[in-house]
Amino acid sequence: MKTTETDYRCGYVAIVGRPNVGKSTLLNYLVGQKVSITSRKPQTTRHQILGIKTTSHYQVIYVDTPGLHKNASRAMNRYMNRAATSVLHGVNVVIFLIEALRWTDEDEMVLSRIKDSEIPAILLVNKVDKLEDKSKLLSFLQEISIKHSFEHIIPVSALKGNNLDELEKVIFDYLEVSSPWYSDDMVTDRSIRFLTAEIIREKLMRGLGQEVPYDLTVEIESFKEKENVTHINALIWVERANQKSIVIGKKGERLKSIGKQSRKDIEKLLDKKVYLELWVKVKEGWSDDERALLSLGYKDELE
Ligand code: GDP
Ligand code: MG
Repeated sequence: MKTTETDYRCGYVAIVGRPNVGKSTLLNYLVGQKVSITSRKPQTTRHQILGIKTTSHYQVIYVDTPGLHKNASRAMNRYMNRAATSVLHGVNVVIFLIEALRWTDEDEMVLSRIKDSEIPAILLVNKVDKLEDKSKLLSFLQEISIKHSFEHIIPVSALKGNNLDELEKVIFDYLEVSSPWYSDDMVTDRSIRFLTAEIIREKLMRGLGQEVPYDLTVEIESFKEKENVTHINALIWVERANQKSIVIGKKGERLKSIGKQSRKDIEKLLDKKVYLELWVKVKEGWSDDERALLSLGYKDELE
């Protein structure tokens, strides 16, 4: 059956949940491209990021968010909490992601925001691929189902893609009749520059120990085409001088390896050869300075 303009559907779907449950992994799987970086560390996602999936029948605009943070004392954390909560305005349906067999205070906090919003919610129970004993899942699902009148409860693996076709089927019911809002070649609202900086930050998040990742950000200084090679200069801002030497590593080894991993992913993104130069600089207090945040690109998206 051919889709006519009158039965095409569109909608916004928010993906919410505490840090590390797999929101960005889910978004990337659904849109078939890495638009949002992932790592085992909380605070990997700092911004609201759109991932757009367009088919011949429908267009879904997924909104990935930072997890909600309890400690909102620093300007950076307050920024992330704003990005996480403002998403619950004007979406058609919300996906609430939790981890199988685990329910924490942070999940409870996210759920209370969902209840307040009165938006229909689909509960996704993620990481089922990790379960050795699947028999416990059924009783967990029963326990969780009484916490809220969820529209659907679906166990999935965002990493492996298990059951995500079921999710997409269900989402269709919440879309509204409309012609597409974004052009069909758009996978995200973010610029190539932004995605490039995020890829570098992902390698830093994954490659560094506990403290430094939360105190750094990446700024693209220049982006130039020269004879079929894209030359990129990026600055890595840290808070303190000792963090600078950690990022650089012994004889520059760590920075070299981060540069190499980043370059490979950026080449995939651009489908071009890339020459990448990384510099580490110290800017004390950037993450607690509203003005420094603004100048580094941390602008509130929906305000
Ligand atoms: P976010 O903070 O909610 O965006 O979580 P991420 O998408 O960054 O994922 C956090 C970690 O969980 C990463 O190391 C992912 O690879 C991992 N992860 C996400 N989904 C799954 C899943 O379905 N199964 C398994 N085994 N790991 C997952
Ligand atoms: Mg994330």
